[in-house]
Amino acid sequence: MAPSARRRRAHTSGRDLRRYAPLFAKRTTVMRSSAMRDLMELTARPEVISLAGGQTDTSLFPPGEFAAMMTKIAQEAAGKALQYGPTEGFARAKWCVREVMAAEGMGPEDDDIIITTGGQQAIDLITKTLIDPGDIVICEGPTYPGALPTFSAYEAEVLHVGMDENGMKIDELEQLLDRLGAEGRRPKFIYSVPTFQNPAGATMSAERRRQLVDIARSRELLIVEDNPYGLLRYSGEPLETLYGLDGGDYVVYLGTFSKILSPGIRLGWLCAPPPLMEKVVLGKQASDLCTSTLSQFFVGEFFRAGRWKSFIGESVDRYRQRRDAMLAALDTYFPAGAGWTVPEGGLFIWATLPEYIDTTDLLTRALGENVAFVPGTSAFADGRGRASMRLNFSGVDETEITEGIRRIGGVVARQVELYESITRPGGDGKQSGGSGSAGSGDPADGAGDSDGDGKVVAFRRQSLRPAQPEPGGEEGP
Ligand code: PMP
Repeated sequence: MAPSARRRRAHTSGRDLRRYAPLFAKRTTVMRSSAMRDLMELTARPEVISLAGGQTDTSLFPPGEFAAMMTKIAQEAAGKALQYGPTEGFARAKWCVREVMAAEGMGPEDDDIIITTGGQQAIDLITKTLIDPGDIVICEGPTYPGALPTFSAYEAEVLHVGMDENGMKIDELEQLLDRLGAEGRRPKFIYSVPTFQNPAGATMSAERRRQLVDIARSRELLIVEDNPYGLLRYSGEPLETLYGLDGGDYVVYLGTFSKILSPGIRLGWLCAPPPLMEKVVLGKQASDLCTSTLSQFFVGEFFRAGRWKSFIGESVDRYRQRRDAMLAALDTYFPAGAGWTVPEGGLFIWATLPEYIDTTDLLTRALGENVAFVPGTSAFADGRGRASMRLNFSGVDETEITEGIRRIGGVVARQVELYESITRPGGDGKQSGGSGSAGSGDPADGAGDSDGDGKVVAFRRQSLRPAQPEPGGEEGP
């Protein structure tokens, strides 16, 4: 038996860890795992309804078109498509990026753009470029759970600014900046997902966008705007991006083709001013030389065929239906003490339960019922978010969404009953969960209405009605 085969084990034991521990870099002690990645293993079982990932519906992409484009690439450009490419990315891929950004009112030059291996690498590269151990990153609370492992891998100190249905609270941001200033400290950057935020589903208002850009300019601070979802709008009016408002001096912009085309192609981008870009390019050279040439050719072909706008239109139609199915199911199956956001786009709803419910614990029970979500603590660097959960509505169809929410609602109802039976031994006939049904007043009393521990986001329970998409509205690109 080969030695490597003899030694292979499915899991690392404590003894293994001790043996390798002296080799590890110090930063590995602060690295944290991504909740979604961990969950992927558990949710891979076919019987599990996963509302956990950020998956798009890749069945939307017609296999015939896929095959035709790949065949064309193979016949016309096999040599180039199979070769290394420039670190910054091909001009053709940058043209596609400019098309997408133009659809949201932005006009970067080719030199402002680097093509990355997904938006995730863009987060990694900007963090690698700017963060020394102990440097401060400010982000929304909650924030994109996948950014936190990156920030901690570079040993950043992450500070959260609260948010409500209009996005990051700018007055709270200013207070934080003043406090840091008094201590002689400055954040290296402010990371924000202003549009259809992952995980909260909230969108920063136009006024707050202007305020944030003004703050960046007047205090000479860098903002990193991460915008994977901007073109996935199901209702409401498009807003100018931070990058568009600023013109690209103080705002670094991150984009991706993952949600508007395919996550499997792993293609994203970053826009930065020239001095920053130089360092980002060096960082990328060290990390992977260049982004997949084949993927860049694929995107180039897709855009050449002019299909991208209609494809986004089809995605928007499908995800709008799924969002509405999830909102309706939440109305039906979540108890009156729960609240959730009503996103105008993107892929996520953020639900907050009565504060005595711990969603990490709840997830174990939910997995027992073959349904999964992302617990709220994974969206905070400081342990908050215990009573909240992120729910994805793009990855499975309406029937599964409804069934998934019904199952989670059932698990929540049992927790509520248990709590009430403990705290009210006499029983006073108060609701025990299960059908906090449509339009039922405004139970903001129980759901995330303060900045205190666990109850973090000032969203109230909202019924589906006001957020219905306008009939015939063309929110596509
Ligand atoms: N940023 C945000 C806010 C995201 O939600 C995601 C994916 N869920 C990413 C970046 C990374 O996406 P990708 O690497 O697939 O482009």
